[in-house]
Amino acid sequence: MAAYSERELRLADGSCARLRLGAVKTLRITVKPTGEVLITAPRRVGVRAAMAFANERLGWISARRAEAGARAAAAPRLSEGGSAPLWGRVYPIVLADGDGAGFDGEKITLRVPRGADYAARRAALLSLYRRELERELPALIGKYAAALGVAPPRWSLRDMRSRYGSCTPSRAAVRFALSLAAYPPLCLEYVAAHELTHLRVSGHGADFHELLAGVFPREAEARAMLRGA
Ligand SMILES: [Zn+2]
Repeated sequence: MAAYSERELRLADGSCARLRLGAVKTLRITVKPTGEVLITAPRRVGVRAAMAFANERLGWISARRAEAGARAAAAPRLSEGGSAPLWGRVYPIVLADGDGAGFDGEKITLRVPRGADYAARRAALLSLYRRELERELPALIGKYAAALGVAPPRWSLRDMRSRYGSCTPSRAAVRFALSLAAYPPLCLEYVAAHELTHLRVSGHGADFHELLAGVFPREAEARAMLRGA
């Protein structure tokens, strides 16, 4: 018998959680920095009771997810010893001479000329965000274009401060905010699904939300992280 068994659960508010039943002594819920929820429980507790336990704590889970969003939204301190968010986690910043930015899984290196100002350091961080988004977006665009039955739109990335995305259906063009790379990955997936849904329905009426929920049921979860509250 395996040490533990795992399965995906859908909680009462529509959000997802991973349940791990196995050789642990107590039932506990962990919300990871990415917003993912892990429930661990002794095997004898069973799926139904573990799910009820989590459903009684949806307020707490939602507050922890909002914290992940707040971390991503916090202004990064882009100096040596500072930190910046990437995909919902916060990493230390290292400054190096040169051009561009790098990420090795543990730290973010901003390569800027010695004595560069905040704007230059921020531009270096945004170059990393651009690269990360360019890697992730093609698959998401393909996935939601197929799910919605639309041709994959042209897309571009912008340094937008007050919104996360926009769509111009007449030109089949969508835009994404570079800052989305700071948030847990589910947020980018939500914005991609949302903007592509606008290729079928403009505005945010009931028909829009029905179509969006059909292809992306985890809107509440993602919005809680984007709001950070
Ligand atoms: Zn919209």
